[in-house]
Amino acid sequence: MATQHYGHFIDGRHVAGTSGRLAPVFNPSQGEIKAEVTLATRAEVERAIASAAAAQVNWAQVNPQRRARVMFAFKALVEANMDALARLLSEEHGKVLADARGDIQRGLEVIEFACGIPHLLKGEYTEGAGPGIDVYSMRQPLGVVAGITPFNFPAMIPMWMFGVAIACGNTFVLKPSEKDPGVPLRLAELMLEAGAPAGVLNVVNGDKEAVDTLLTHPDVRALSFVGSSDIAQYVYSTGTAHGKRIQAMGGAKNHGIVLPDADLDQAVNDIVGAAYGSAGERCMALPVAVAVGDGTAEALIERLLPAIEGLKIGISTDPDANYGPVVTAAHRERVEHYIQMGVDEGARLVVDGRGFSLQGYEKGFFIGPTLFDHVEPHMQSYREEIFGPVLQIMRARTVEEAVRLPSQHQYGNGVAIFTRNGQAAREFAQRVNVGMVGINVPIPVPVAYHTFGGWKRSAFGDANQHGTEGVRFFTKIKTVTQRWPEGQAPEQSFVIPTMQ
Ligand code: NAD
Repeated sequence: MATQHYGHFIDGRHVAGTSGRLAPVFNPSQGEIKAEVTLATRAEVERAIASAAAAQVNWAQVNPQRRARVMFAFKALVEANMDALARLLSEEHGKVLADARGDIQRGLEVIEFACGIPHLLKGEYTEGAGPGIDVYSMRQPLGVVAGITPFNFPAMIPMWMFGVAIACGNTFVLKPSEKDPGVPLRLAELMLEAGAPAGVLNVVNGDKEAVDTLLTHPDVRALSFVGSSDIAQYVYSTGTAHGKRIQAMGGAKNHGIVLPDADLDQAVNDIVGAAYGSAGERCMALPVAVAVGDGTAEALIERLLPAIEGLKIGISTDPDANYGPVVTAAHRERVEHYIQMGVDEGARLVVDGRGFSLQGYEKGFFIGPTLFDHVEPHMQSYREEIFGPVLQIMRARTVEEAVRLPSQHQYGNGVAIFTRNGQAAREFAQRVNVGMVGINVPIPVPVAYHTFGGWKRSAFGDANQHGTEGVRFFTKIKTVTQRWPEGQAPEQSFVIPTMQ
């Protein structure tokens, strides 16, 4: 029986939902419902937007340095509450505690970036662009903006979005995943405590009804989405049709290319962590390893097998566990369906993680590590995202053939190459048709002051998350051309002014 009920956080207060439509929030380690969340009605989302619109007028007037101070205070509060937040996150998501801390920490790095907002918002100035004419530009906030986030990073991804947006002078409506709403609600409380006035950050829990309200409401100027590709595409096309600025990040299928000269022990170490960490539920996971050249796949598998054998799957609060359960029973079924599909398509199932059961936690949503060999480009289980602890080995005779695999895949989020050859790595990074590249780095999530974003069906719209791209996404530029004439007025002219 659920003991806890999550509602919304609107205008600086927790409000109970009124829709009567509930979604379960599980503790995936135990396989039990730990809470219920009320899914917002259109009217509730409209209230959140109205609260954000009312708060925005004053928030935009708060000078950037004071807005930065709120971010500094928020960072300190999140750090002071790190243990409790990580526990809550790990309990609802299923990722192990150390990984939950990493989720929060990577979000905080964007908050640190947002603390530099006074510098980031400085415009440009040209003195003497013409006789007595100066030109300057400024970045102004958009107004009310919104974020829709996935279950797999319930701290980091909301902070990617609201950290930058709010620092820029916007107010925010966040619709987090209904699967793990605890941490986003807590972050909103901490923003209030840090000094963000009521209405600056609102959280509505919900489903399509809430999303559609945000996508069509005239007061929402821009919307940032992260989730699966079909929904990202829907969000992009619906939002842009309603005149909004949209960035919508989607799914992924990241390849790790292993050249024959790579340090194989290091590569295996990296690939195992990136393929199975967080039970594979990361958009920057590495679920495909491409072994290049004769014998590389065999050498790789020889090392992978003991590493996989040594993995410890446990409840999310077990400090010795390498990874925990997946988020829901339905997601476990989906992953197991893909494993069966791989078998039916003719890939060789080397390690089968189905049917894994943890003693004392038999109802938990666990899947053991799974390894496929001889995976081929035409297989559906390769073409689609599995999002579970499944590693697929492919073989390529040449580097050329290996580069083609990630380049031609429908997703283009991240890719990694393992090699000791600098020239090969450099050429690979230049040519591969993917947005984020790691060279001997298995999870190349860019640091907060660079930007995050994939290509092809991994992202719709052209502005990346955070970094200066994030500032550009959440602001509009205004350019002023000024003249302060003295004495006689210049001659009247009917032609466009030029710099002749
Ligand atoms: P999801 O697409 O199911 O949900 C994402 C958000 O959309 C949630 O807030 C959800 O409530 C909402 N939503 C769900 N169904 C909807 C519908 N029919 N209409 C409108 N909104 C709807 O994704 P998820 O399962 O929460 O997260 C996993 C996915 O997110 C994976 O595909 C993963 O690759 C992707 N992801 C991508 C990135 C990236 O930056 N590219 C980062 C993290 C996760």
